[in-house]
Amino acid sequence: LQRLRQRLAGSQGALGRGLLALLSRDRLDEDTWESIEDTLLTADIGVGPTQELVDRLRTRMRVDGADASQAREVLREELLALVDPSMDRRLQVSGEDGRPGVVLVVGVNGAGKTTTVGKIARILVAEDRSVVLGAADTFRAAAVEQLATWGERVGVDVVRGPEGTDPASVAFEAVKQGASEGADTVIVDTAGRLQNKAGLMDELGKVKRVIEKQAPVTEVLLVLDATTGQNGMIQARVFSEVVDVTGIVLTKLDGSAKGGIVVAVQRELGVPVKLVGLGEGPDDLAPFDSGAFVDALLG
Ligand code: GDP
Repeated sequence: LQRLRQRLAGSQGALGRGLLALLSRDRLDEDTWESIEDTLLTADIGVGPTQELVDRLRTRMRVDGADASQAREVLREELLALVDPSMDRRLQVSGEDGRPGVVLVVGVNGAGKTTTVGKIARILVAEDRSVVLGAADTFRAAAVEQLATWGERVGVDVVRGPEGTDPASVAFEAVKQGASEGADTVIVDTAGRLQNKAGLMDELGKVKRVIEKQAPVTEVLLVLDATTGQNGMIQARVFSEVVDVTGIVLTKLDGSAKGGIVVAVQRELGVPVKLVGLGEGPDDLAPFDSGAFVDALLG
């Protein structure tokens, strides 16, 4: 929590502080409500959720007669409701019947997939789980090398193929090795070429099918760069249409002033943000905690 606060204090905190200053005004006139709305939209919360939040705040400040001294508590409660603390954010990493659980990691190039695979592996290894990584982003030699480096760093095997190999065959081999070794979890990094939806659907569909011949896909994580705003939302939608996303990893939250994207993307896809990336280092991945997040927003 402390770390999240520190990381977000400079950027995200501005959103909460701005909102709080507006909401604590003695007179909440139309101009003030408009400024509140603008502040929320600028933070990428999205049109629907912004409207909803403003309506709720109006009701509570006006009808219920909350005063400036209660503004912080009201804002905290309503932001928390918007982030939806009831969502199950636990990572599903365990298989069944002696087979490993498979975590498929998808997203556009540059979003932070490979880094996230490395960081998740590190967390699982720290929990004494045995992990195998699959480098199925075979179209970029750099991605395979990068994952291999993470594997060495974390101390787990990385299954790879020559450049240009069919991603599905690498995924197949990785799960096969995981199953034969009795690994707990296999994490598969995928290619994020978004040249066209049909191609992506074919590729990810095939990867998923070959995995499922051997072990259950327990989690499909969509990695999204928090700094990409609306563009990121469009990409998120495409991925969610081609594969059943079960959780979102929002990366680069450390470099974004737009924490509102958490709300927008959850609403858009109807799946929880499960992890957040807070930097490039191996320890810079944290489970998403809605209470801590809202507290960080409020600075
Ligand atoms: P991929 O193409 O989706 O596999 O993306 P990479 O894992 O190669 O990451 C792209 C860049 O983003 C790299 O320079 C990473 O170090 C950086 N990156 C990944 N996650 C984070 C994060 O949470 N915060 C910051 N600041 N940088 C990140």
